[in-house]
Amino acid sequence: MTPTANPSQTLDFQCQCGAIKGAVTESTPPTGRRLVCHCNDCQAFAHYLGKEKRMLDDHAGTHVYQMDSAKFTLSQGQDKLACVTVTGGPLLRWYCNDCQTPIANTLSSTRFAFLSLILSAFDAGKTDAVLGREVEHVAIASGVGDLGQVRTASMPGMLWNLLVRTIKARFNPELKKSPLFDDATGEPLAVPIKLEPAQRLAIDEKADIYREVLGEAG
Ligand SMILES: [Zn+2]
Ligand SMILES: [Zn+2]
Repeated sequence: MTPTANPSQTLDFQCQCGAIKGAVTESTPPTGRRLVCHCNDCQAFAHYLGKEKRMLDDHAGTHVYQMDSAKFTLSQGQDKLACVTVTGGPLLRWYCNDCQTPIANTLSSTRFAFLSLILSAFDAGKTDAVLGREVEHVAIASGVGDLGQVRTASMPGMLWNLLVRTIKARFNPELKKSPLFDDATGEPLAVPIKLEPAQRLAIDEKADIYREVLGEAG
């Protein structure tokens, strides 16, 4: 192997309306993890945004990349950020307030240096080149169609990753940096929106119908 002069690669981010722009800078080989999550909460987020056709694949999966939050930077549009919790829990789901392009999922504090980038706004070919093609699936029970052959990720393995990231970030504050949080206070840059139970119920009904439609198409 010849040593490479440029060991990192960049993947540009832009929301549909162009207000929010940024980039992922990932080392070669990439250190994050590509996952497809089929869980009901990820599906609820897609329906909340009205972006299900763009965000969800044929098996109702959301393609994400779990990575160090400091490797994602925004160059403009931080004032357009919005976030929602679809369960009332600590997982924040970020998007552009003007065009509803999904951006990432995070926890509610930078203590957990965790960012799960949502890949639907990125160029698919470039994504494969920079982040690798290896994909694992999560929560296949709530997916659509035959997922019997896919590689699945274990929940304990994912929690272990999160623990390692959190401990590393405790010793290296640079790792806690996130374009979605205030550096000084560690607070999210947008006030999290909480769905009313009736809103969530309506979204879940929409998601049920969408799964049926996907199932019939496949
Ligand atoms: Zn936008
Ligand atoms: Zn999920």
